[in-house]
Amino acid sequence: MIKKIVFATGNEGKMKEIRAIMADMKCEILSQKEAGIVADIDENGTTFEENAVIKAKAIADILTKRGEKAIVLADDSGLEIDYLNKEPGIYSARYMGEDTSYDVKNANLIERLQGVEDAKRTARFVCAVAAVMPDGQVLTTVATMEGRIGCEIKGENGFGYDPIFILEEYNCTTAELDMERKNAASHRGKALRAMKKKLEIAL
Ligand code: IMP
Repeated sequence: MIKKIVFATGNEGKMKEIRAIMADMKCEILSQKEAGIVADIDENGTTFEENAVIKAKAIADILTKRGEKAIVLADDSGLEIDYLNKEPGIYSARYMGEDTSYDVKNANLIERLQGVEDAKRTARFVCAVAAVMPDGQVLTTVATMEGRIGCEIKGENGFGYDPIFILEEYNCTTAELDMERKNAASHRGKALRAMKKKLEIAL
């Protein structure tokens, strides 16, 4: 029985979410940092799924070289805006430059959609999760959260593009939702829960 899961991320918010979702799996769940891994991974895939697999494989290779056995999980996510041909897509973190603030990125996207009617402002967050098993087997899941881009920046919660992403169900941005509500509906929550089911079958 494999008892260790390493999640290939430096993002504490993601770690919190994965720990909550995987809590009952009776596995030790470590972040990349907790596993003592420093890696600069070139995410050169063309889809969210490819990039998640690239990240998970890179960390799994490092663990294998150390002679350690673990399941390695990684995710890749982003925002697709239909009117902008699915931009920023896999480049969501890098859009307008990695160091540009999200106030600037969000204002820019609203500007690019100026005058566009609500029905054409559809968008989705996408998340792919990849798992590399100790025998090298690769599992993937992909999930989305559908919504639309608002006309102003609203809300203080969440991160990234949350202040411009309107979830019809609540008629507010995901930055106006508490974490519990957002996680229940989110692309990442759905993809992680689907991965948990696959892992329970594979283990
Ligand atoms: P990743 O860490 O490579 O998956 O980068 C994902 C990027 O997509 C983030 O930096 C955000 O810009 C955006 N993103 C992904 N998920 C969310 C979300 O739930 N809310 C807001 N922005 C998100």
